[in-house]
Amino acid sequence: MQHPTANLILGYEKTCNCERDILIGVLRANKIEVLEIGFDDSAYLTKYDVAIFIPSSDRDIQMFDSLRGLRCPTIIAGRYVSNVFPLSMRSPRSSQIIVIGEPYKTITELTSKQTLLDKFVGRTILGQLWNPTGIRLPSATECVNSTVSILTSIGCEKCCAYCPYGSLHRKIYGDNFSRRERSGIEVFEECNLAIRNGANTIQFVADQVFSEVSHNNEQLALLASLCKMGFTSRVSLVFNITPTAVINNRELLLALDKVFELCPTLSIESLDDRALQLFDVGFCADDAIQAVRILTEWDLAFRFNYIFEHPWKTEEGLSDELERMTVIAEIVSGLAPVRQLLLAGDLFTHTYRALNGAPLELHMSLANRKRCMSAAFLNVLKVALDTIVFEATQLTIRDDVMHSLIQRCWLARFPLFS
Ligand code: SF4
Repeated sequence: MQHPTANLILGYEKTCNCERDILIGVLRANKIEVLEIGFDDSAYLTKYDVAIFIPSSDRDIQMFDSLRGLRCPTIIAGRYVSNVFPLSMRSPRSSQIIVIGEPYKTITELTSKQTLLDKFVGRTILGQLWNPTGIRLPSATECVNSTVSILTSIGCEKCCAYCPYGSLHRKIYGDNFSRRERSGIEVFEECNLAIRNGANTIQFVADQVFSEVSHNNEQLALLASLCKMGFTSRVSLVFNITPTAVINNRELLLALDKVFELCPTLSIESLDDRALQLFDVGFCADDAIQAVRILTEWDLAFRFNYIFEHPWKTEEGLSDELERMTVIAEIVSGLAPVRQLLLAGDLFTHTYRALNGAPLELHMSLANRKRCMSAAFLNVLKVALDTIVFEATQLTIRDDVMHSLIQRCWLARFPLFS
């Protein structure tokens, strides 16, 4: 069996797909041969010139530490590393380089030059910020289930309290850290190529696909104007967007809507203003409702990101949320049933059960609301809140807290919404 002799990436299984896809795309675009392997395939570890390890948990790190046969220099990087390693003060071993912060540019340079590897082994270094303009990523040719992911930018202008990414990078890089757009021409060419290769869905991947400041979406605007001439077929465009970005980018979204079938995921996060302030997302519940109104008027197939449970939940906040959910239910009541069903679906668990994490009870009648506020509901909610407060002290990653909570609610067979 033949194996590449260049680089391998392992231990990324649960890592953010976006981060993995960007890293592999950037390495391949720089003609660096990459083989992705899991821990199970590690029998061939002696074959490589350099290994790149992207852990996503302590368990990954323990498994990595127990690997035998890895003799080459190893670069350890990624978001988990950036979040956890500086706190643990872990020192690299003599064959390791730990990269804190944004890894793409630094890993590409390290893996291209033996002299740099020799210089930095045994050290922890800060990744250089990468400008993603002028690089052709190969993702457009890799069609999986007719879907292609295309990177539109890297970096983020925001610092949502539940997401270590924005705040950590801003602490590390200060104002130099920002959302950096790829060229609209390159993204357009990749969309074209993807469609010619049979894609029927394009997913825009980025930490922050749309800036909330409309003039910062210069390259996306260029893309929209290039798209005016149309593609050979109409494809779905999937992306995440915040309420503020919807409100401030109506013209741009309408231009894209002329060419693509837009399928946005609207990051509402909460309809409780107190929670939104704590999340530090920079919008209020009324903004979220306004964005829902806009997307509904355009008749888009949109979905919600919603954090139903969080440690600061109060009965008063819950009451406000339920009140606003009925407003949203009313706004979307004219949408086709399948679109309403999309809104009721929970993106965390892929189910339609409200307290399995699903955000909205679309048909919440007054009677249902009264049931929600019953002693039984509040009692179970208290158990759930105690759980999440405990979990929140243990974990740093939002999804882990969510999933743990969802799991426990499910095990408790929450009696409502069933
Ligand atoms: S917009 Fe997304 S990537 Fe940026 S800080 Fe918020 S959650 Fe994190």
